[in-house]
Amino acid sequence: MKTYVIVGGVAGGAGTAARLRRLDEEARIVMFERGEHISYANCGLPYYAGGVITERSRLFVVTADRFTEVFNVDVKTRHEVISINREEQFVHVKDLETGNEFDEYYDTLVLSPGAAPVRPRIPGIDDPAIFSLRSVSDIDAIVQKISSPQTSRAVVVGGGFIGLEMAENLKERQMKVTLVEALDQVMNVIDYDMAAVVQQHMRDKGVQLYLKDGVKSFEREKGIVKVTLSSGTEIEADIVILAIGVRPDTKIAHDAQLALGKNGAITVDAQFTTSDPHIKAVGDAIEYPSPFTKNPVTVPLAGPANKQARLVAESIVTGKCRPYTGTIATSIAKIFDLTAASTGMTGKQLRLAEIPFAEVQTHAGSHAGYYPNSLQLAMKILYDPQTGKLYGGQAVGYAGVDKRIDVLAAYIKKGGTIEDLADFEQAYAPPFSSAKDPINMLGFIAQNVADGYSSTITWEELNQSLSDNTFIIDARTPEEFDLGALPGAVNIPHTEVRSRLSEIPQDRPIIVYCAMGIRGYLTERILRQHGYTDVKNFVGGYKTWKAITNELDALEHPKDAQISLFTPNPGEEDGSPRPAQSDAITLVDACGLQCPGPILTLKKTMDSMTPGDLLRVLATDPGFNRDVQSWSKLTGNHLVSLETKDGKIEAVIEKGAGKVSGTSSQKAVAVQDGASIIVFSNDMDRVLAAFVLANGAAATGRKVTMFFTFWGLTVLRTKKPGKVKKDFMGSMFGMMLPKGMDDLSLSQINFGGMGPKLMKRRMKQKHVDQLRSMYAQARMAGVRMVACQMSMDIMGIPAPELLDGVEIGGVATYMEAASESGVNLFI
Ligand code: FAD
Repeated sequence: MKTYVIVGGVAGGAGTAARLRRLDEEARIVMFERGEHISYANCGLPYYAGGVITERSRLFVVTADRFTEVFNVDVKTRHEVISINREEQFVHVKDLETGNEFDEYYDTLVLSPGAAPVRPRIPGIDDPAIFSLRSVSDIDAIVQKISSPQTSRAVVVGGGFIGLEMAENLKERQMKVTLVEALDQVMNVIDYDMAAVVQQHMRDKGVQLYLKDGVKSFEREKGIVKVTLSSGTEIEADIVILAIGVRPDTKIAHDAQLALGKNGAITVDAQFTTSDPHIKAVGDAIEYPSPFTKNPVTVPLAGPANKQARLVAESIVTGKCRPYTGTIATSIAKIFDLTAASTGMTGKQLRLAEIPFAEVQTHAGSHAGYYPNSLQLAMKILYDPQTGKLYGGQAVGYAGVDKRIDVLAAYIKKGGTIEDLADFEQAYAPPFSSAKDPINMLGFIAQNVADGYSSTITWEELNQSLSDNTFIIDARTPEEFDLGALPGAVNIPHTEVRSRLSEIPQDRPIIVYCAMGIRGYLTERILRQHGYTDVKNFVGGYKTWKAITNELDALEHPKDAQISLFTPNPGEEDGSPRPAQSDAITLVDACGLQCPGPILTLKKTMDSMTPGDLLRVLATDPGFNRDVQSWSKLTGNHLVSLETKDGKIEAVIEKGAGKVSGTSSQKAVAVQDGASIIVFSNDMDRVLAAFVLANGAAATGRKVTMFFTFWGLTVLRTKKPGKVKKDFMGSMFGMMLPKGMDDLSLSQINFGGMGPKLMKRRMKQKHVDQLRSMYAQARMAGVRMVACQMSMDIMGIPAPELLDGVEIGGVATYMEAASESGVNLFI
């Protein structure tokens, strides 16, 4: 009878023990586990902290007693193996409950001790409020700490998947969460362009990010931990989670002089045999040659550990298992509403390994764009430009990420190529996929490049190759262009390229782009067939550009980092904003439409419905939030619910009888009571007149609304908006327009700025209040100030640039105010 001794009782250890028993009923199997539990769900620990997994007992896949009962394995929890005697083939074990020590002899020893969290020697790191996460006892301590009402601010150090999962789960507990990462991006298993999307999503969810900034020290001050970063930034925390990474937990292997790799991982062969033929090792503690570079790598993931366990047991019992081929490190993480996944090598790793590669990407819908709830999915592949052999793939999106990454992983593991992706046959029906799945699209794009139909450029190459001589064509619609474009780009919509060829120089390098790449490609094809040769299509298009430039800006100004523009809705399949679905009865998808588009679409659909019908409207225009409330009230429809999630506003409205809500007497009173003033002009004299009238009306007890639109909007600009990210046109307008009410000029006799000064002096002499104090009076009198959302978008004046207390609304907000007003003025 053989004795198999196993060190470690979780993924690799318990898996090995179970398979050993299935293959060898006679053997004596002893499994030592230092902790209290075996086979627990370490991958589920962060979700227990967040309360998503509510029952602690659910973390235990199987108890020690049950494991013994089913597999007849001698399970020894709270027993630590403290040394290995290789000559005599025994391990020395300490019973952590009693302190007793004893030896256990083996025929084969299997090491699956896992990896321990890294705890660098940062000053103050031993503070009791600083936790690492590996085991159930770690999460118990964390849960106890965050259950205290005094614990409201958390700092998570490390932006790998454990750090991100902890950040999300602490946020789920309504805590203020800050994440610090020494690299310039989170999730090092994806490239920067993909990580940019994840980072924006985290900020949208209220997590403050400090990237490219390490922790210098922890200090306890007045009952809290002061976290000081290398940049000098100080963050106050009630709890700190260290998730900096893991290191193979291989002290006993090291002491036993087993061959170890550079980072302390145990070296094994394809049968998991260590440098000692009687000792095998699996899991997070081993290193194995990468299938791509052949250099040894450690991949601390549960999937490989479990599969290795199955193989090693066979190797032990039968003398040989199917040779292990290594792992391509396929991983996935949920980050709030987003999923990010990776397989194979990233661009960074390929560059480091000096492996030449090409990459293409696509921003597609998770399923057919015309079927409801198709959500944006960004994907990219990296491959050998000569052979088309796939090296890696990444996906970030709101739905369908998992199945796409698994398809890529399967092809990559089997040596697949871009041709395989183009040929891939998926199960298709509109709710699940598209007739050309994003996987196919990646294959098609890569084929086009290989066949010379297209030449692509990545954002990194774009940054390097932009010169004064480059002619950049934005192939989107003028409306999209006005909302933001690459610096220096010329807007030639792809439908107009043929008729505007004379505007496009033949002798300059040309870069084309659109929202995501498709219209850019169409433009490129037209140009190539008209003799243009130096043409490149920017893969990922404006969406990628926007995400990256936002992030690069946030890197410099982490405190001012702006809310993302990455919307979960893909629009049309070519990336253009989706027009309203006129045939929808219970759902209106107005995502991508600007004010007044969503309201007009809503009204059009509502007109065809009968009282009592319910309508669900989705929109991404921020002003719609307020507009739909006003519109419903105004039109006598009932707003059943209103929610904003992932930048998408969802309103459910019940069609009313078509009358304005409220009794007729109430309505009559409202009509007499109100005054509304549209401030269209930014001439100082006209604006003064508007405020004089507004304050006068307020003084008579009227409810006054001032609606600032177009040039009038500049009256509400603040001079100190902080760092505000703007597109090119927005910056242009920003420079040209007055910076606020103190900068306005007169409509007549302005005299190059002298006029306003004379006017101000005259007003002082005549004891007439200045514009700023009129504004203050109006605020104090309760005058409602509404900034027109559409004008804000057009003029590039974002919300942070407006004075405090200003509401943002659209036509419906104005109409509601106007309908309650006996006085309506346009100034
Ligand atoms: P482990 O599962 O860590 O087991 C090693 C065990 O050995 C430990 O319990 C340890 O106490 C014991 N031990 C060590 N030394 C001794 C000794 N001398 N004597 C006795 N016992 C000893 N992977 C994924 O693929 N997806 C995920 O979503 C995911 N989420 C994770 C979340 C968290 C919070 C953590 C910590 C890990 C996560 N992982 C995830 C990683 C995954 O859990 C590991 O890759 C996997 O458990 C490795 O298995 P292993 O057997 O090598 O080590």
